Amino acid sequence: MTAPLFPLFADLRDRSVLVVGGGAVAERKVEALLHAGALPVVGSPDLTDALQTWRETGRIRWRAGEFHEGWLGEAWLVIAATDNVAVNRAVASAANARRILANVVDDAELSSFHVPAIVQRGPLQVAISSGGGAPMLARHLRRQLETLFDDSLGTLAELLARNRDRIRARFPDLGLRRRFFETLLAGPLPRLLRQRLDSEQADEYLQTVLEAATTTQATGSVVLVGAGPGDPGLVTLNALRAMNEADVILHDRLVSAEVLRLARRDATRIEVGKSANGHSARQEEIHALMLEHTRAGKRVVRLKGGDPFVFGRGGEELEFLRAHAIPYEVVPGITAAVACAAYAGIPLTHRDHAQSLRLVTAHCKDSLDTLDWNALAQKKQTLAVYMGVAGLEKVRERLLLAGVAPGLPFALVENGSRPQQRVVAGTLATLPETAHHHQVQSPALLILGEVAALADTLHWFGAAPLAAPPLPASSQHPDHLRTPTLPLAAQAA
Ligand code: SAH
Repeated sequence: MTAPLFPLFADLRDRSVLVVGGGAVAERKVEALLHAGALPVVGSPDLTDALQTWRETGRIRWRAGEFHEGWLGEAWLVIAATDNVAVNRAVASAANARRILANVVDDAELSSFHVPAIVQRGPLQVAISSGGGAPMLARHLRRQLETLFDDSLGTLAELLARNRDRIRARFPDLGLRRRFFETLLAGPLPRLLRQRLDSEQADEYLQTVLEAATTTQATGSVVLVGAGPGDPGLVTLNALRAMNEADVILHDRLVSAEVLRLARRDATRIEVGKSANGHSARQEEIHALMLEHTRAGKRVVRLKGGDPFVFGRGGEELEFLRAHAIPYEVVPGITAAVACAAYAGIPLTHRDHAQSLRLVTAHCKDSLDTLDWNALAQKKQTLAVYMGVAGLEKVRERLLLAGVAPGLPFALVENGSRPQQRVVAGTLATLPETAHHHQVQSPALLILGEVAALADTLHWFGAAPLAAPPLPASSQHPDHLRTPTLPLAAQAA
């Protein structure tokens, strides 16, 4: 990718800008320049009626004749708006030689600055650029934004500009000022302005809010936020708000880059990823970080994959916060079982196949040994096994011992909801071998139960489920597995 353009808004008031060309396009450019308070100098053999009028009323100056370099004299910027490619080229290269930025209308290549598509509301301007490569897309977006922003935004921008010094004086500290603005903009003011509060009433309203606001250092707080499984579309509005108000974001490794991108740009991001071993030490570090940053008055977002209360140790973190009297909130997220099932086309419950759902973790030997396998072996239920990739052998062994049929369908959903999602399906009999064959990696969620077989017909996201490989003659399974395995493998093939 070539480097992107550097966006800027130029102050052209009382600055001379040369426009080469005297036709309709030049006229539009001159109009925009006049709007920005610039002093346009138009160079061309002749002028449109409007340009002529502006010349007569002294709003622009006219250099009559063919372009020559001398015209560039006092210009800060140049716009070449002729229909003659050779002239436009000459203007661009002369401007370049003098280090004057030049825009050649409809020629991104020759231009050293581009003029964006804009949406304007009072002093507020939203500029859109596609880098010159897709101006139609920029225009399309502009039209969409036009419908999103109503006129009251301009009034709001004017109100804030008018009261800028007042607000600064009340909140000299940047952090406190930012919080004040967040509260103000999240409050009723925008709505009141839409309902046509006049500017005097708006000033009064702002004054009242300013007087009522506390100006002391706010206490820090923690929002425990569930980031969902990876697809940024699955982040809740509350999570988005918290991420946009955060000073510090402590996130797990599991949180996708796409989701992190939604957070406030200047929030400090700290990855506190846990490894499978020695994670208790890590947990203490996380607690220490929460303490440190909240003591400094920061708003901390503790961002976790999925839901914070489903195998996320969110409970322990809240206990810690409570013990240290740190205020907190919890924003639930879409947990992996729910997301992976949806994105694999597996209804977790189904009147014909499953009446209950169990969320289980199988991340280490201990947790596997303490599970009630008889309860897990019950019919008509779905098991969603988290962190199970390493324990698949054990899961099969225990379930078979507890009497589960080797033909029970499973689906392993790797990177659920993300573009690289893969679903591997088969039956319990060959679960570890199938996973191994497809090299299923973490994060992956194991769904066991009759419903898992529905992925074959109901899948809709990404590729179809990958099936078990045909069994080699010298199957390495324990003998007691071999008998039921063969017909089932045939069924899966
Ligand atoms: N709190 C999280 C779970 C944390 S445990 C939640 O509610 O989802 C981590 C395990 O979650 C992983 O080992 C994996 O089993 C599962 N997981 C999380 N995100 C996943 C994803 N996008 N695809 C598949 N499994 C995922």
